[in-house]
Amino acid sequence: MRALTVKQPWADAIAHGEKRIENRTRPIPPKHLGTTILIHAGATEDFNALPADMVRAWPKDVRAVVALATLAGCHKAAKPRCCAPWGFPDTWHWELKDIRPIPHPPRPVRGQLGLWTVDDDTLAAVQRQISIERTSA
Ligand SMILES: [Zn+2]
Repeated sequence: MRALTVKQPWADAIAHGEKRIENRTRPIPPKHLGTTILIHAGATEDFNALPADMVRAWPKDVRAVVALATLAGCHKAAKPRCCAPWGFPDTWHWELKDIRPIPHPPRPVRGQLGLWTVDDDTLAAVQRQISIERTSA
């Protein structure tokens, strides 16, 4: 199963907030379209990036797998702007759906670039908490 590393607080904004667009420099590789992936909160964080009242209730895990998500589609950012407030200009907007937060995020898990393959122990830890219906590329 693949994972996508996202900096905090954006990972929490996906897992526990309303963020359904992830900004990336490249489109989703076609073979991963429609697959279920894990959202991984990376080591770097910037909790001043969002209003404090928004992030207050979030767990703020880092180096942890925090949610499942389906890669529903992607599009190039439209001008003047689409997908506000989460979509940035001049990026690809990866569309996430069916978000399922993981109650006890497995950690520590080191992040990687792009869509990377989760190790068996981490995947097993996720599956003990949540059933994963769909297989992924
Ligand atoms: Zn958009």
